[in-house]
Amino acid sequence: MIETGSIEIGPIDAAAYTVPTDEPESDGTLEWSATTMVLVSVRAGDAAGTGWTYGPAAIADVVADPLAGAVRGRSALDVAGAHEAMCRAVRNAGRPGICSMAISAIDCALWDLKARIVDLPLHRLLGAVNDDVPVYGSGGFISYDSEAMRVQLQRWAGELDIPRVKIKIGERWGADEERDMRRLLLARELVGSRVELYADANGGYSVKQAIRMARAAQSLDLRWLEEPVSSDDLPGLRAVRQAVAPEVAAGEYGYDLPYFAGMVEAVDCLQADVTRCGGITEFLRVGALARAHGRQVSAHCAPHLHAAVMAAMPNARHIEWFHDHVRIEEMFFDGTLSPKGGSIRPRDDGAGHGLVFRAAAAEPFRVR
Ligand SMILES: [Mg+2]
Repeated sequence: MIETGSIEIGPIDAAAYTVPTDEPESDGTLEWSATTMVLVSVRAGDAAGTGWTYGPAAIADVVADPLAGAVRGRSALDVAGAHEAMCRAVRNAGRPGICSMAISAIDCALWDLKARIVDLPLHRLLGAVNDDVPVYGSGGFISYDSEAMRVQLQRWAGELDIPRVKIKIGERWGADEERDMRRLLLARELVGSRVELYADANGGYSVKQAIRMARAAQSLDLRWLEEPVSSDDLPGLRAVRQAVAPEVAAGEYGYDLPYFAGMVEAVDCLQADVTRCGGITEFLRVGALARAHGRQVSAHCAPHLHAAVMAAMPNARHIEWFHDHVRIEEMFFDGTLSPKGGSIRPRDDGAGHGLVFRAAAAEPFRVR
């Protein structure tokens, strides 16, 4: 029997690691050459939990102040209470953005910590509904040439047998429709007819342009059109959804529950990111909200931090097997999962999320 009152949350540490991408990367509305992971570790007695987010190194400052002070000394078993204390602590700073990413990393670390204290795999502590969670290969960057696209898509669809792949479109805010169409055609040719083809415009198109592009891609059996217009344009998302065959999806910039409440009816499938929305505590609430509206949830990026919580979600659709984050998580952790066959299965041996941070591998990339 665990003494629930005696397990106090102790030190909370944050570090940031900036990892150059293996090739320059871009989508329709942004380009980048490095990705920063902010890693949080939380201790209680002899146990330690780990969570992370992808964003500016300044997130680590918010972890140190004001969040660590709001959480330290509370019971490590009452994660929802710690989550609430963190949300209240950022009232004046503002919840969306960096504050919510910091809350998310700590919340995920606290759930991992609790699972390790009670010696359960995290998905068992949360209550697993699914043994496996489907994934889709995600990358297909606009900056890639045809050869880079071929290598990536054929690895997912061929070697790993993942039956869904997603590429970026909306080049230069929708200024190059012709190349978008050529790349969609190439992607379809590369993966064959039995693999589902997805596209993400990252908000690069206008409403009418998105409808025109989706109709032009009809012969390619495009199944998923992500952020065809800005995810802040809810009437625009609704209009595109009504007019096109592919499912319209959005939600990766959701930092709190009201955001998702406003969006859920505007999309076919709600996306959410456990490293942004407020951690596992809030991600489960997003799942409940979506279910009440007859929607599934697709997890955005950070695939290994989504495995357990998506296994615990009855309306889980799939996890984005995002090239950048897969690469970093495989570099930095022991215990990563295989997507072979098109799904991942959280481990039933061991406790917590099952990953062990390889500090020595990460140290050369440390920036804070
Ligand atoms: Mg996206």
